[in-house]
Amino acid sequence: MARQFFVGGNFKMNGNIKTIKDIVNNLNNAKLDPNTEVVIAPPSIYLLLAREHLREGLEVASQNVFDKPNGAFTGEISVDQLKESGITWAILGHSERRVILQEDDTFIANKTRAAVEGGLGVILCCGESLEQREAGKTIEVVTRQLQAVAEKVKDWSKIVVAYEPIWAIGTGKVATTEQAQEVHAAIRNWLKSSVSAEAAEKTRILYGGSVTEKNCGELAKQPDIDGFLVGGASLKPAFVDIINAKQ
Ligand code: PGA
Repeated sequence: MARQFFVGGNFKMNGNIKTIKDIVNNLNNAKLDPNTEVVIAPPSIYLLLAREHLREGLEVASQNVFDKPNGAFTGEISVDQLKESGITWAILGHSERRVILQEDDTFIANKTRAAVEGGLGVILCCGESLEQREAGKTIEVVTRQLQAVAEKVKDWSKIVVAYEPIWAIGTGKVATTEQAQEVHAAIRNWLKSSVSAEAAEKTRILYGGSVTEKNCGELAKQPDIDGFLVGGASLKPAFVDIINAKQ
């Protein structure tokens, strides 16, 4: 069975009450490809606002979740709190959190396990730096990041992988279709050998990094690109064109 196309919008630390409502209204009123699964991830303070206004069938993701149940963890949000609020996904392992917040593979794997076991979907991000790419280490880096999760999570049915080369994020420098397809195919091979043949066949692998309404069409044609994780362009009306990239 074909994998359902998936487009996530990662708002990062952007927006305010008005602009988030505008984005949500724009999505509510747009003609969206009914075959695309759409998930938006506003900053945590706007999760409930987005969920309250967003139409049914479109989902909301947290940009993070903690790996422990409710308790004395100042500043964190639990899986249960998200679920109670109708937030059904979490983005984990984003390079901004790996680099700026110094999250390591083990912490990300623990958070992924907590999220998946608690019933959330996870958009699990991986990707190499420019230095690692130039050293020919892209596949090694990406599979190491994913392997840390595979050691703790056996059921990948609630995981969507997002391949996001760090050098392409927010830079306007999108990976070529060949570069992206090569890594996506390698991730699918890794899924087959390290998780299961079923996971390789069914897991959506998204591309992220300077995706726009202009470059999404070609990328979406690649056999192993099953959607996008979109940052900057998800804040703009053209996000709708990316959601409809397969049409
Ligand atoms: P970008 O961000 O689309 O602004 O490059 C993508 C991401 O970080 O998820």
